[in-house]
Amino acid sequence: MTEAHVEPLGKVRTKIVATLGPASRDPIMIRRLIAAGVDVFRLNFSHGSHEEHTANYHAIREASREMGRQVAILQDLCGPKIRLGSIPGDVVTCDLDAEFVLTSAPTDPLDPHELTCTYQELADDLDVGQTVLFADGTVGMVVQEKRPGWARMKVTLPGRIRSNQGINVPDAALSVSALTEKDLADLEWTARHEVSFVGLSFVRHAADVTRLRAELESRGSRARVIAKIEKPQAVANLESIVAETDGVMVARGDLGVEIDVAKVPAVQKRIIEVCHRARVPVITATQMLNSMEASSRPTRAEASDVFNAVLDGTDAVMLSGETAIGRYPVEAVSIMSQIAHEAEHLVFNRFGDGFSDWLLSSSTCRHCPCGPSGTVSRASQVRPITEAVVESASQVASKLRATQMIVATHSGRTALAVSKQRGATPTLALTDDPEVALAMALYWGVTPVHVPDLFASVHVLTFADEWCREHDLLRSGDRIVIVRGVVPGDPTHNAILVHEVE
Ligand code: PEP
Repeated sequence: MTEAHVEPLGKVRTKIVATLGPASRDPIMIRRLIAAGVDVFRLNFSHGSHEEHTANYHAIREASREMGRQVAILQDLCGPKIRLGSIPGDVVTCDLDAEFVLTSAPTDPLDPHELTCTYQELADDLDVGQTVLFADGTVGMVVQEKRPGWARMKVTLPGRIRSNQGINVPDAALSVSALTEKDLADLEWTARHEVSFVGLSFVRHAADVTRLRAELESRGSRARVIAKIEKPQAVANLESIVAETDGVMVARGDLGVEIDVAKVPAVQKRIIEVCHRARVPVITATQMLNSMEASSRPTRAEASDVFNAVLDGTDAVMLSGETAIGRYPVEAVSIMSQIAHEAEHLVFNRFGDGFSDWLLSSSTCRHCPCGPSGTVSRASQVRPITEAVVESASQVASKLRATQMIVATHSGRTALAVSKQRGATPTLALTDDPEVALAMALYWGVTPVHVPDLFASVHVLTFADEWCREHDLLRSGDRIVIVRGVVPGDPTHNAILVHEVE
């Protein structure tokens, strides 16, 4: 393996989420991944024991502390992913028009044309005429007949299925809860670890997000909810979900099975645009550099995919198998960072500081049901004064060609509002809340820093000046624009300051 090129700190605005797994959980590898550009590590709770996740958690914390970087952790819950039970011989061929039954009371020994699954009620939730998909959508069967706990299906899309492979039923209104018994047990782990984000799989409506938030709060966790959009019902309820959640993931893996794969790019653009309007961070995920699980270079199509996601306005791009089980995890992060950087370069050359305006006026949403009005999420809502201050600060920074924007923010909302302006000026976000500092690692263009004493103007200026010099980010004559969010107990102190480095 070749040594990866390492991007300098703060250079790439688009954030990188990397899934930790056997290929990357070694503490030295975690350091190399952070150095290559990882901002958020994803712990995938579909795999691994609590002991393994705990070891990974501590390894990330230790590496980020040592490297002086705010690196967030996203705990991705398994959710109600339905899987096939055991198949005799592990694999069965499904010929066109062959018949199978799905049953909650299998015969013993199991007939190879008898299928069981991890959700006992599935046969009852199906309707005659509905399509059931297996093995990442490569095999399809249509329900012909049903009885309690039993459904007869005919193969319409032939192929082979294996034990434990995933099952998708895009059209069914499944009664399964968005939080399974396993998820609730995994939330007990969350209560004992400081994760910034919890990913909720197979969200269908805003109430799923509300329920997870309540479960987190009842366990004393401040983790933010990332709603994974991977069901047609979630696409239909997108605006209300975005209004309720703290972040969104375009989970293209299951999404591409649950809806027509040809529609995925348009849906991705729509999700990103709705999130941009609502000021909700959005992660574009799955198969971005898939071939890099085995190859040290991505395909041209994959490079274009990452590039285009940045042009769509995504806040973050995600690696799954590439870093979890792939042979080239550091190279994948490094290439992703370089591609994102190229896309940002194009954006700044073409739009200057008008990228956000372009995103808001572009056509994706004008022709889709969400309409141009948009939503502002409960989590990212800022007061109109802050809104005006942030907009003005971005204009000032652009006009003065400022080298840095410094945001003093308690809750992180002002930093998120600045991030969604998509200005060319890199943003340093200072907060006195260590948990907020970690969460801001996901915000596009924002470098988070934890400072114990935040709000006295002189402190902000002195601290920012020293920090930027230490990281070689300022030269004599450079201008920095400072934005102060709301000071707790003193709501009048929104402010913009301009400082010229002597
Ligand atoms: C996806 O389906 O794209 C996804 C990210 O979810 P998971 O990897 O948990 O299936």
